[in-house]
Amino acid sequence: MKAVGHTQVAIESGFWARRLATIRDVTLWDVFRKFELARGDAFANFDRVAAGEHGAHVGFPFFDGLLYETIRGASDLLAVSHDERLDRQLDGYIERIARAQAVDPDGYLNTFTTLLCPDKRWGENGGNLRWQHEVYNAGCLVEAAVHHYQATRKRNLLDVAVRLADHMCGYMGPSPRKNIVPAHPLPEEAFVKLYRLFRDTPDLRKQYPQVAERRYLELARFWIDNRGNHTGRANCLPNLLESSQDHEPLLKQREAAGHSVKAGLLYTGLVAVAQETGRRKYYRAAMRIWENAVSRKMHVTGGVGAMHQEEAYGPDYFLPDDAYLETCAGVAMAFWNHRMGLAFGEARFADIFERVLYNNVLGGLSLDGTRFFYQNPLVSKGDLHRWDWHVCPCCPPMILKLLSGLGGYIYAHQREAIFVNHYVESTTTLPLEGDPLSVRQETQYPWEGRVQLGLDPQRARRIALHLRIPDWCPGFTVSVNGAAVEDVPLRRGYAVIQRVFSPGDRVVLDMRMPVMLIEANPYVEAARGRVAIQRGPLVYCLEEVDNEPGVDITLPERPALEHSYRPELLGGIVEVRGKALDGKDFRAVPYFTWGNRTPASPCGQKGPLEGGQIHDKGIPLSRNQMRVWVRRDGDWDPSVWVWRRPDILDGWDGLLYRPLAL
Ligand SMILES: [Zn+2]
Repeated sequence: MKAVGHTQVAIESGFWARRLATIRDVTLWDVFRKFELARGDAFANFDRVAAGEHGAHVGFPFFDGLLYETIRGASDLLAVSHDERLDRQLDGYIERIARAQAVDPDGYLNTFTTLLCPDKRWGENGGNLRWQHEVYNAGCLVEAAVHHYQATRKRNLLDVAVRLADHMCGYMGPSPRKNIVPAHPLPEEAFVKLYRLFRDTPDLRKQYPQVAERRYLELARFWIDNRGNHTGRANCLPNLLESSQDHEPLLKQREAAGHSVKAGLLYTGLVAVAQETGRRKYYRAAMRIWENAVSRKMHVTGGVGAMHQEEAYGPDYFLPDDAYLETCAGVAMAFWNHRMGLAFGEARFADIFERVLYNNVLGGLSLDGTRFFYQNPLVSKGDLHRWDWHVCPCCPPMILKLLSGLGGYIYAHQREAIFVNHYVESTTTLPLEGDPLSVRQETQYPWEGRVQLGLDPQRARRIALHLRIPDWCPGFTVSVNGAAVEDVPLRRGYAVIQRVFSPGDRVVLDMRMPVMLIEANPYVEAARGRVAIQRGPLVYCLEEVDNEPGVDITLPERPALEHSYRPELLGGIVEVRGKALDGKDFRAVPYFTWGNRTPASPCGQKGPLEGGQIHDKGIPLSRNQMRVWVRRDGDWDPSVWVWRRPDILDGWDGLLYRPLAL
């Protein structure tokens, strides 16, 4: 299916309009200001390159990329609500970036290398391409330029990106060019986007006679095909290791592995290349890795990357409470699942998108929009707080990238079929063949499961309306113009209402949204005998500020759980209340709101491996057993065995989570 782009969707009221207003009015400016002031001005790196200076560089080598990512997020906001001040601000940054590129005859641009090791560009002369982050930064520039052009129709950033991209196409690729793949993925999808922009915009194409856009797609495909191919690998470590998903060819990989942010971005690029080439082998690889990720390596919040070391995916079913689950990995997971949904046409990918959006990414940002979480574990002992800024501020730009473009994930279409993938109060016009179709969506989601859709085709016409029925939803009804629709078929996770729709028709979807208890697959050691509270798409948590100190709740077998909307609490939330086995009351709030009051600590029971710290590698020994290393009294103890017993998996059918029958 084809997504309706974020520029075509207006989110002007409801839950997300309020969040997006905070991001537009507070977070974006806060992030730019902190990049300029927190530890020296990161934009000044470009000024020093333009001035021909050498020596000092502000921040890590990937700071160029983080600035470009922020510009992408800003551009997406600009595209949906024009803001003269923001437009001027971006032009100012872009002018400084362009001046830095202009001093180089090749159009090469990477401030870290030029300022600190100018003889080592692209890792030449004993440089370190992995550390220098040149290819990654270039990818961030390209995607920022595409989004900025789409928002403003200005060429200023696109000119810079095209010049660098053309230089790269001449430098890396099949022999005799250099065998270089991005040590940090992201450029794969970015170059596909650049290819699409020129392919789909003939007017723009005419303005760039030197561009041969096919080369961008070919380079992206080369990067996908040559992970794990270390022969003739020039100018960078022959083997980038599993951290960069370079341990074997990507098409042979069977598990989500390595650094979880890099992984998610690489898999996104893999699907993007699949969509453009139509080659089945890419789709098959993406599906195989996805099945592994979501059925064995994903926390109930949608977070991935359990390991603190290397911010990496752990072994199958290794899902401890204190896992890392970086915000950036959640954003990458959302990007990946969005592309999977478009490619495969199934709702289960949007289910994962929703889970990670509400429960892993949204909590990465404070309610006031100025503080950030790097890691998003399920428990905290009160020592984890959002930071104002970080020496490695990767998460703020990634949050901006996902949320600023949120409108682009809601609707999709394919011939006479339209898909509502997310329930977000919004309006759009779908560019269906024949006539466009206006849609207005009204809903209190995620607090309530009722969604009203006003459909306004220009004339009566047959349409197959697809409404995603989320994986958490235990039952739903649909009515059209007040009349119940019986026996609505469910196809690939969508309720399908196929009929002739006329101007002014009104569809109401009512999803039951009870408070649920979710249990995890018995192979998940850390979750045995424990449950998560969930209502609708939201996973809940218990904070000390609402409960007894050291919250430690045991539930009766059939707990009575109530919920109510509390407009005054945490900006307006649905709170869940219940009684523990000892008769004491407890209160739970959505996990994404935790840590916004003091004292800020959601509490949980101690994990089964408490007192031990998990080593960075579980070692799968065979299909039925695995060994994990645990630190006891300062020493690593390899003797903890987790036996996999197929008999305890009866009825799980590959599921990682399921609601507990009450
Ligand atoms: Zn991050």
